[in-house]
Amino acid sequence: MSKTIVIGAGFGGLALAIRLQAAGVPTLLLERRDKPGGRAYVYEEQGFTFDAGPTVITDPSAIEALFTLAGKRMEDYVELLPVTPFYRLCWESGQVFDYANDQDALERQIATFNPRDVEGYRRFLDYSKAVFEEGYLNLGTVPFLSFRDMLRAAPQLTRLKAWRSVYGMASSFIEDEHLRQAFSFHSLLVGGNPFATSSIYTLIHALEREWGVWFPRGGTGALVQGLVKLFEDLGGSIELNAEVARIEASGQCIQAVTLADGRRIEADAVASNADVVHTYEKLLGHHRVGAARARSLKRKRMSNSLFVLYFGLDHHHTQLAHHTVCFGPRYRELIDEIFHRDGLAEDFSLYLHAPCVTDPSLAPPGCGSYYVLAPVPHLGTAALDWEVEGPRLRERIFDYLEQHYMPGLRSQLVTHRMFTPFDFRDQLGAHLGSAFSVEPILTQSAWFRPHNRDSRLHNLYLVGAGTHPGAGIPGVIGSAKATAGLMLEQLAP
Ligand SMILES: Cc1cc2nc3c(=O)[nH]c(=O)nc-3n(C[C@H](O)[C@H](O)[C@H](O)COP(=O)(O)OP(=O)(O)OC[C@H]3O[C@@H](n4cnc5c(N)ncnc54)[C@H](O)[C@@H]3O)c2cc1C
Repeated sequence: MSKTIVIGAGFGGLALAIRLQAAGVPTLLLERRDKPGGRAYVYEEQGFTFDAGPTVITDPSAIEALFTLAGKRMEDYVELLPVTPFYRLCWESGQVFDYANDQDALERQIATFNPRDVEGYRRFLDYSKAVFEEGYLNLGTVPFLSFRDMLRAAPQLTRLKAWRSVYGMASSFIEDEHLRQAFSFHSLLVGGNPFATSSIYTLIHALEREWGVWFPRGGTGALVQGLVKLFEDLGGSIELNAEVARIEASGQCIQAVTLADGRRIEADAVASNADVVHTYEKLLGHHRVGAARARSLKRKRMSNSLFVLYFGLDHHHTQLAHHTVCFGPRYRELIDEIFHRDGLAEDFSLYLHAPCVTDPSLAPPGCGSYYVLAPVPHLGTAALDWEVEGPRLRERIFDYLEQHYMPGLRSQLVTHRMFTPFDFRDQLGAHLGSAFSVEPILTQSAWFRPHNRDSRLHNLYLVGAGTHPGAGIPGVIGSAKATAGLMLEQLAP
């Protein structure tokens, strides 16, 4: 029977491995780190649990589908808790917008910013729903392997004005600058510059309105554990601390992988959930196809990086919402600097995660675990020395949070740790330390993105943020569906 290897246990790798194993294809999942999850790694320190990455869980139906296709019930593995409001958006002016799934409450708040924008928001929501139908439900899990696939999608993309930016499209419906920010920042959650990313990404708004925002009891790590258990219950094998050093190919065919510890494991097909540049350059650079693909991928634009600061306090800040976006003094200019300027801006906008609002078990009684992140340039945009910049930025962010959001923070601090662009590069193998892989602009999307199956090496597949449709948990779980469909055509018993 066919044996398949998936390299990397991020959400994309896990979802693919589950789909293959559920279809009867024996699958071995090889993960280089000591825990599964990839960007959804978990740190546990002094009784605090810190989810390292994704915290906003959307489209629970895509997650549930993994359990149902395996004949299991999701609730036996993981419990998803609703998050309300979805996000609290705050500006330095003191204005606050609680973004929730309640049309009346949304419209009442919009009216306090600008009464004329209530009608504009309704039209924006209609547009976002149309994009969601086309871009997510119809095209999100379809592999774009040929240019013909792209041409077939062209009329819909044209009708939806996909060449416009997220911010440009939001601004065509909404006048108030704060509200324009409120309805355009979402693309940053998947590494897209709202001023450059296709307006297709406004679909995130409709997706959240349709299915809500959720958080797993026990944190995102509990969802990762649930998926690992599902895979193992299906008979799949996962090996941690198993770094793939090389993918071996003969002619147009992958034959085996070699691990850093010297073991060689043969396979009928290999799917890589590792960074796409890492896959072609480091694992396949010895092969002419790998070397050529790596050269062309390095010419693509990569998403920004992130500076993430995890911290545990001996105090639970009950005034906070679970998810807070703290807009700084500048929006367009700051984003422009993050994506284009060689240097670190003086100001920042932050995302603050306070998971104990939904699940207090993530910290000792009376305490709170938190993380705060700031989008920053990747290492190709700004060659900063993060050994120096990291501690400086940490101090600036702690000061800012204490002043604006979390009084007494410094005296309440029990533990903290940072994750910088250097860590994205060194711990996750991310090209240029990008947090979200290939930037999701129109000319790097769908067929223009690295394909779910390599066009030359016929049994090499990709899954995860670097392939179609792109980053974010719904994106990489969608990529797993697209990739699994292709693999099962080749492998199904
Ligand atoms: C801080 C942060 C916050 C985020 N917040 C959200 C959010 O709230 N909601 C959301 O939907 N998305 C969010 N995202 C995006 C989302 O987390 C990612 O797009 C998604 O998790 C990426 O999954 P992936 O399948 O591409 O794999 P990754 O998570 O990138 O995992 C790839 C895995 O491959 C392994 N690997 C690499 N090389 C090798 C090798 N040679 N051998 C073996 N294994 C290897 C790595 O160790 C890693 O475990 C966030 C991202 C970050 C960084």
